[in-house]
Amino acid sequence: MDYHFEFRPYRRLFKQPLRTRYGFWNVREGLILRLTDAEGRIGWGEVAPIADFGTESFAQALSFCQFLATEISEGTIAQIPATFPACQFGFGAALENLSVVPSGNAQTALNSLWTVHEQSYLLPTGRDALRGWQDPWQQGFRTFKWKIGVVDSAEELRHFETLMQCLPEKACLRLDANGGLNWDTASRWLATCDRLTSSYAAKVEFLEQPLPIEQFDQLLNLHQQFRTPIALDESVSTLTQIQSCYQKGWRGIFVIKAALAGSPEKLRSFCQTHAIEVVWSSALETSVAQHFIRHRLIPAVPASDRAVGFGVDHWFLDTTLNQLDFEQLWQSL
Ligand SMILES: [Mg+2]
Repeated sequence: MDYHFEFRPYRRLFKQPLRTRYGFWNVREGLILRLTDAEGRIGWGEVAPIADFGTESFAQALSFCQFLATEISEGTIAQIPATFPACQFGFGAALENLSVVPSGNAQTALNSLWTVHEQSYLLPTGRDALRGWQDPWQQGFRTFKWKIGVVDSAEELRHFETLMQCLPEKACLRLDANGGLNWDTASRWLATCDRLTSSYAAKVEFLEQPLPIEQFDQLLNLHQQFRTPIALDESVSTLTQIQSCYQKGWRGIFVIKAALAGSPEKLRSFCQTHAIEVVWSSALETSVAQHFIRHRLIPAVPASDRAVGFGVDHWFLDTTLNQLDFEQLWQSL
């Protein structure tokens, strides 16, 4: 069957640049996809690449879509190369969304994303985190994520201790180094995590991607040496990498950014057949991809009680692209 294919690019400004060890990120660019079948049903999809995570760039995804004809088939989608995982996800999701026609109660149930309790909240980087958690705590967030490995590590460790002193009981902190530490600094962070978790009311849930992806053996080694768990993120960006880390013996946490991982069908199938511990995480996508992940992907795999990493909408200036009326969202582009 052929589908009528349209796409529209979006550009979203961050309220303030998002600082990670890759530098400053000012604008999130992506594409909203719209497939229409012969009966007039619509399937929405989204391509939200992050080249720093090993996906195609936005420019590559854009040219890919510009190159496609306005009538495409399932075969076209099946042939998207593995070097374009964000496109594989976006087109795969659009195709699956086409086959679902919710009505009545099912439609109402679909009209939601996550509650604050289910999400982790991304704090500002550096010392700004110290006054960044109180408002979201009042709103009900209990899990917070903080980017590290950005400034001097002695300074960050001091802020970390202050943050752990301030955070109330039941608060849970995720640290994310984005691969920016080395063996010594990672060991220092993990030893500090172990110490502070036993000294204070709040706990460190895990340290995400302390070392670069090339240092898999050292990551495994660190995971075995400390009580604070390690989660892989950049190491497991795409399904190919998830499979490879699993085969090499990783049984710790997998942070999965489904929007970057490739075909949602294959990802779902892998998670259903391998008992891996997953933390679902945002690639700073709009509600189009979030809705698919929330309703079509997560419920299809074994449940986890860990918060999902989708508490990021507050980073964007506009809220138009957070809405669940996709026709309106489309019209705004
Ligand atoms: Mg991460």
